[in-house]
Amino acid sequence: MRPLLLALLLVAVPGCFSAPRYSGPKTDHFDGARFVNREPTGHQPGFSELMELALSEEQGKWRTWTENTPYPEPPDRVRQGDLRVTFVNHATVLIQMDGLNILTDPIWSDRCSPLPFAGPERVRPPGLTLDALPRIDAIIISHNHYDHLDLPTLAELAERHPGVRIFVGLGNDRLLEAAGVPGAEAVDWFQRIPLSPEVTLVGWPNQHFSGRGLDDRDATLWLSYVLTGPGGPVYFAGDTGWGRHFEEAGRTHGPFRLALLPIGAYLPRWFMAPIHISPAEAVKAHTALRASTSVAIHFGTFPLGKDGQYMPVQDLLQALYATRPRPRFWALDFGEGRAVPPLAGPRARAARP
Ligand code: ZN
Ligand code: ZN
Repeated sequence: MRPLLLALLLVAVPGCFSAPRYSGPKTDHFDGARFVNREPTGHQPGFSELMELALSEEQGKWRTWTENTPYPEPPDRVRQGDLRVTFVNHATVLIQMDGLNILTDPIWSDRCSPLPFAGPERVRPPGLTLDALPRIDAIIISHNHYDHLDLPTLAELAERHPGVRIFVGLGNDRLLEAAGVPGAEAVDWFQRIPLSPEVTLVGWPNQHFSGRGLDDRDATLWLSYVLTGPGGPVYFAGDTGWGRHFEEAGRTHGPFRLALLPIGAYLPRWFMAPIHISPAEAVKAHTALRASTSVAIHFGTFPLGKDGQYMPVQDLLQALYATRPRPRFWALDFGEGRAVPPLAGPRARAARP
């Protein structure tokens, strides 16, 4: 059975694989039962449309397996004011900033699925082994979809890195607690949490949804994150459609030294546009954020949309060639790490101690 069809069938079994729900007071983005996007994402697709998506359109080509090129392992830490980025796979990135080591949406499992034997399966190994990771101080998780919140990986990381802080959107702390994963801390949009004397984590809105089964749709919060500090600022988009959050983040916290922006699972647009930006929109987001350097995420690991394995990067390159001045937007190889150039200009000088 096609992986996408199977994944859709799995999440469409009512009552199965659901996660704990958030409970708390109503806010402008929580109606007492469900979280809502700030800009309406339009019609919510029903089961028949999910089936139409699974059955009607050709899946782009994916290879069955690709081995990775070896790269040097990341350093233990970087100094204050320095920033290093290593692409692991999918939305998993190691950010080394101001002496802290931070992982985004870590997934080392073979499948992003509620079942270990079925569902979308990886076509490449993670770019770093768990043994190659330096000591991790914090993990930031954008939302509870299986390709972003992988409980087996989190359990393993919590055991290997005692005391690691795991930041999740409101309500997902209960999921981790129920699974016996320690260290979860719930974050709301615009909430600020210090990670060190220099570095602060800020929850930031984005345009997406949440759910691990049919009856927990939007019952927990999805978000992006901003990391501020002498080595930053850094923006991690998570999964998101287009919205004013990019421009607002750029105005409030930009210019960003680094933005991590998704480019994959963007086809077909009639289905994906409200929830996943396209590669061309990722280039627009780079500009809206006033990012100095961006790094592509959410591609080439699991077949999740109708785009093929290499289409996101090809479309990204096309969008970059059509943009003047040419943005510095890297599609790093799996396991490839780079020092991120400092910001130029007065903001950079002001940020330095
Ligand atoms: Zn998602
Ligand atoms: Zn995703």
